[in-house]
Amino acid sequence: MTRVVVTIDGPAGAGKSSVAKLLARRLGYRLLDTGAIYRAVALTAQRTGVAWTDGAACGAIARELAITFDFVGDKNHVYLAGDDVTSAIRTPEISQGASQVSAHPEVRAGLLDLQRRLGMGGGVVVEGRDTGTVVFPAAEAKFFLTASEEQRAQRRVDELAAAGKPVDYDVTFREIRERDQRDATRDVAPMIPAEDAVIVDSSAQTLDQVVDSLAAQVLARAGRQ
Ligand code: C5P
Repeated sequence: MTRVVVTIDGPAGAGKSSVAKLLARRLGYRLLDTGAIYRAVALTAQRTGVAWTDGAACGAIARELAITFDFVGDKNHVYLAGDDVTSAIRTPEISQGASQVSAHPEVRAGLLDLQRRLGMGGGVVVEGRDTGTVVFPAAEAKFFLTASEEQRAQRRVDELAAAGKPVDYDVTFREIRERDQRDATRDVAPMIPAEDAVIVDSSAQTLDQVVDSLAAQVLARAGRQ
């Protein structure tokens, strides 16, 4: 059966990472977390004293980014020049930084080739905001995963608590709303569903139900290639 490109876009906390990981395992596909790439740019900027508002300098970081992934078990390890940054890129501060650096056209252009190279050859589940619209417009299976704002905030609170980093629900709710607004209204590659994306609302479904449904749709499409 053809090994296709699957894209999963959508707002923060919609469950994209969990769904993408399980779906990739179920299909025997690779996983490409594009949000981690934007997070890595924000972290590198912070560590080298570059302001997130500096588009030219953040663009230079994007073009040079030495990022590698190692998807082991249910954990997608992220390395920058060999340094394990898996936890460092997941703080609320870096979430906001990633959203800021990702609005610069220089950063988006600087990361396009890298993302396409990492997804080359198909057999990959790609998650992000513009993966079905800009990065892989010809992907065979596109999904836009969403859920209510309240559920998305609660999920993020639970996720960070499980990682031993408790955060306040109201603060998280406001941060998610701010990030989504910035991601959806930026000039370049705003977060919008691709015209041919299937919209999936995960509010009323379990993780397994979502993965079952997506896997069935991917296999149906792959069978038609
Ligand atoms: O998905 P995640 O929360 O890790 O993404 C962090 C930020 O990176 C998003 O808020 C968004 O601003 C940016 N991003 C993007 N395009 C992508 C993936 C992520 O702009 N394809």
